Amino acid sequence: MVHNRSLTSAGLVEAQFPGALHAAEHAAIGLLPLVASSDRWDIGGVSTALHADTGVPTIFVYDGHPGGAGFAERGFEKAKVWLTATRDAIKACECDTGCPSCVQSPKCGNKNNPLDKDAAVTLIDVLLRDAS
Ligand SMILES: [Zn+2]
Ligand SMILES: [Zn+2]
Repeated sequence: MVHNRSLTSAGLVEAQFPGALHAAEHAAIGLLPLVASSDRWDIGGVSTALHADTGVPTIFVYDGHPGGAGFAERGFEKAKVWLTATRDAIKACECDTGCPSCVQSPKCGNKNNPLDKDAAVTLIDVLLRDAS
């Protein structure tokens, strides 16, 4: 979970949060095989949302077992590897505002909107910093 204050102190404005979360989610899902296949760590997926109750941007990493929602503790180290790889992939992409190689998803139900590539990198930086 990321606190609004961490994000704003990292230079993001609230209007960027949805695009940052959405872009980070797409890129993270794209890189899921990187961590999920290595030792069959059973990640069901990742989703990002502005939490309905608190308005706090939240990223959930959950395991694939029914009822196993929430942050998968045992996968924490892997999550760090995963998020680091996700951030690096977004950063390394040479497009300006996001493309299918980084933050766009052909399966997006929201027509890849909003997406904020630069803000996604900042978001993941904050996540990794706060998590360690
Ligand atoms: Zn790109
Ligand atoms: Zn989407």
